[in-house]
Amino acid sequence: MMAALKPARHLIDRLPPVRGRYTADAPLAGVTWFRVGGPADVVFRPADAEDLAQFLAAQPADVPLTVIGVASNLLVRDGGVPGVVIRLGRGFVDITADGEVVRAGAGALDGNAALVARDAGIAGLEFLSGIPGTIGGALRMNGGAYGKEMKDVVVHADALDARGNRHNLDLAGLGFTYRHCAVAEDWIFIAASLRGHPGERAAIQRRMDEIAAAREESQPIRTRTGGSTFANPPPGPDGKGHKAWELIDKVGGRGLRRGGAMVSEKHCNFLLNAGDASAADIEALGEELRRRVKEKFGVTLEWEIRRIGVPRAGAGGDVA
Ligand SMILES: Cc1cc2nc3c(=O)[nH]c(=O)nc-3n(C[C@H](O)[C@H](O)[C@H](O)COP(=O)(O)OP(=O)(O)OC[C@H]3O[C@@H](n4cnc5c(N)ncnc54)[C@H](O)[C@@H]3O)c2cc1C
Repeated sequence: MMAALKPARHLIDRLPPVRGRYTADAPLAGVTWFRVGGPADVVFRPADAEDLAQFLAAQPADVPLTVIGVASNLLVRDGGVPGVVIRLGRGFVDITADGEVVRAGAGALDGNAALVARDAGIAGLEFLSGIPGTIGGALRMNGGAYGKEMKDVVVHADALDARGNRHNLDLAGLGFTYRHCAVAEDWIFIAASLRGHPGERAAIQRRMDEIAAAREESQPIRTRTGGSTFANPPPGPDGKGHKAWELIDKVGGRGLRRGGAMVSEKHCNFLLNAGDASAADIEALGEELRRRVKEKFGVTLEWEIRRIGVPRAGAGGDVA
């Protein structure tokens, strides 16, 4: 007699009890700026830092973990993300101001941190209003805009390591370089303290308005995009730096399409979901740009957008 087949256990049944929320087979496309990508096996929204620490300490070591912010720098592949995707929600969005320092949870939007700074008369954090992500994403990416980056303002950041132990990292410990942070990839930021300097509210607001106008002018901000696709390459032996967008422009990238993906006409380091793109279309279009730039200029463009998850077999399209 054949043994009856046991129904496969879903990953969610192996996860430790938490105060936050698990969602099985959770669609991710709707939470990403590109609006593409497959589901996560499980999305976990921790109630607070303690809940997240206890989850990390107790979760099975073989389960892959991925933390995301508001996915403004992410391409989620069409086959989805295996394991648990951690999203920091309500328990991580508090922002307070004390003297010249703003303390923000890692799930807080950069733009909200900029507003709290303005209301407290703290200047120097206006650049955050130009980055559409969270404080956690800004720490991981050393996010920056209009002449300032996180490296210039972070005093310290709190993070949990893969086993849930809490660490307080000072600026040196964060190891920030251009769009990069040296902290282990499996550590999760939970909060940061950012230092500005005394300023007048009206002047701070003016600077934020200038940034908003400059962004409107130069970036396709009302589209489905992931922001700058490639990091600007480091200067060559001649000491000259290249801008990724210039190289892309010079290889005929502006407006280039693949399936439903397109290189922005306004800013050609931005890729767009022009309607019905798959993640594979977007990734393949990016790879085509890298290939052309390498062939013509010998320069390797490195992805600034983080690509996560697995491809779906058979996806793709032709470059037009
Ligand atoms: C229209 C547009 C304009 C943009 N302009 C700029 C700009 O001017 N300057 C700029 O720097 N960026 C810009 N970006 C890119 C993006 O907003 C930034 O990289 C931002 O910091 C990402 O934050 P996020 O919360 O969306 O992170 P996600 O995109 O969700 O994640 C990005 C990376 O950060 C990691 N991460 C997220 N949260 C945490 C956490 N709590 N702990 C550890 N790791 C974490 C993720 O694992 C992932 O590797 C732009 C994007 C768009 C769509």
